Amino acid sequence: MPSLKGPPELKHLDHVLVTPLAIKRRIAGLGEQLNADYAKKDLMVIAIVNGALIFTADLLRQMRSPLRLDCLRASSYHDGTKAVGEPRIVDSMKLDVRGHNVLLVDDILDTGKTLAAVAGMIKDKGALSVKTCVLLDKKARRAVPFEADYVGFEIPNEFVVGYGLDFNERYRNLPCIGVLKPKYYA
Ligand code: 5GP
Repeated sequence: MPSLKGPPELKHLDHVLVTPLAIKRRIAGLGEQLNADYAKKDLMVIAIVNGALIFTADLLRQMRSPLRLDCLRASSYHDGTKAVGEPRIVDSMKLDVRGHNVLLVDDILDTGKTLAAVAGMIKDKGALSVKTCVLLDKKARRAVPFEADYVGFEIPNEFVVGYGLDFNERYRNLPCIGVLKPKYYA
């Protein structure tokens, strides 16, 4: 385990998959890619919260294109660490996406159901283009065919917490991405 600064709950981690420095560097890289792809284009960034809150906050500060931000809430019912059933999307957006380039930002692409559903909904609302950006991609878990346009890190099939990702609403404030010791998933 690298020695990291952060809340005492860092001690609940069994191992770290992505360090704070790796996250910072990768987000700088994603920002460059997005700046090139959306240069001089008007962009609407839609963060899927709560998970994407911290990632979106750091990513936006790397972006130079003119943009607006809104949020959608999506949640799945969980049986421990596994999502059960279809994701529930709460559309509380204030911005009208019609005719705009939209970038959906999420914490992790797992089964793909959430982003597939949200992207479909945004297209149905008449967005000009819809692209997706995720910090993490667990390819092994895909249940529907869906790939993100921008990916921070591909990770193995483990349930992760930190940097916005929770277990029972805890651990979102860890500065890294890691896997809990088994006793904390109880
Ligand atoms: P999907 O719809 O792609 O299965 O999953 C989307 C949501 O499930 C993510 O936005 C995230 O909230 C949750 N999720 C999937 N895998 C993980 C994980 O490893 N850790 C945490 N904390 N949440 C996950």
